[in-house]
Amino acid sequence: MIIDLRSDTFTIPTPEMLEAMFQARVGDDVFDEDPTIKALEHKLAGLFGKDRGLFVPSGTMSNQIAIKVHTQPGDEVVCNRLSHIYQYEGGGIAFNSGASVALIDREDGQFSLDDLKYHLNDSEDQHKAYSKLVSLENTCNKAGGTIWQENDVVEISTFCRENGYKIHLDGARIFNALAETKDDPIAVGNQFDTVSICLSKGLGAPVGSVLVGNSQDMWKAKRIRKVFGGAMRQAGYLAAAGIYALDHHIDRLTKDHINIRKLADALRNCVWTAHVPEPQTNILIFSIAGEIGARRVLTELDSLGIKALSLSQNTIRFVTHLDISDKMIDEAVEKIEAIQF
Ligand SMILES: *Cc1c(COP(=O)(O)O)cnc(C)c1O
Repeated sequence: MIIDLRSDTFTIPTPEMLEAMFQARVGDDVFDEDPTIKALEHKLAGLFGKDRGLFVPSGTMSNQIAIKVHTQPGDEVVCNRLSHIYQYEGGGIAFNSGASVALIDREDGQFSLDDLKYHLNDSEDQHKAYSKLVSLENTCNKAGGTIWQENDVVEISTFCRENGYKIHLDGARIFNALAETKDDPIAVGNQFDTVSICLSKGLGAPVGSVLVGNSQDMWKAKRIRKVFGGAMRQAGYLAAAGIYALDHHIDRLTKDHINIRKLADALRNCVWTAHVPEPQTNILIFSIAGEIGARRVLTELDSLGIKALSLSQNTIRFVTHLDISDKMIDEAVEKIEAIQF
């Protein structure tokens, strides 16, 4: 039995999800004739209180479309340094939108309104790029699945609205955050111009993300999706997996959060770990003690049938998901506690 804790992107569709995919009614979505894609877009737009949704092949494309919608070349995007849009999208902010980026340094992947104000440029100053878009990530992947403080989100969002800045949420794992905060998704949607939601992470669909926003922004987004090569045809088969995931895989996310805390507790009992934070959702990033190094630990874990990723020379990431059962967690805990160096 392989216990794959590398990422929540490794999930395989369940037989029930596959059945829903087989049953999907499809058509050519470029001609607006795929009823299943329309239903998925409508469902997520409604959940977040937005006019429209747009089904796209990946979370990266969804974020990149949003950035393109909200900026012109020479504008600047402000986000935390750990953001996926900066760290893991191949320089797409510059490549796709010709925009620059101002990075806020904070280890939890968040920032306050004061932090934001410090990083906004004076639009009257001819030397400076136009600050145009503010982007938040909830939960923040690289910070270890951290959840944004609601008061910070509200303050930042209100400020952006009052001062003409656009605000985007990379909500790849927003349902993991909502599983803990129990907030209403509509209240989340209200704080942002656009929200990107991944179906292929903890929700367990094989492919796809949805960008939601108001009609005007989403009309632009649809054009940009075409230009980026992301307009698909009978992709309702994939959208059906997304609908199934929204109907059946949201309530179980708290289980992943409980499971990862068990792994964190086990790691804290090990002399070869250094800092093991209390996970807030389904991601745990922990550090390795002294000279042992992440590579040796990964090799040892691998030999025990546990797969993980290292994020640096002395940090390792575990992610729990749909394909990690309670039994696997018990087995992983036992194996981890027995490791000696
Ligand atoms: C995974 C992820 C994305 C999108 O990734 P794709 O692999 O392109 O679907 C975007 N933002 C965050 C925070 C992510 O974790």
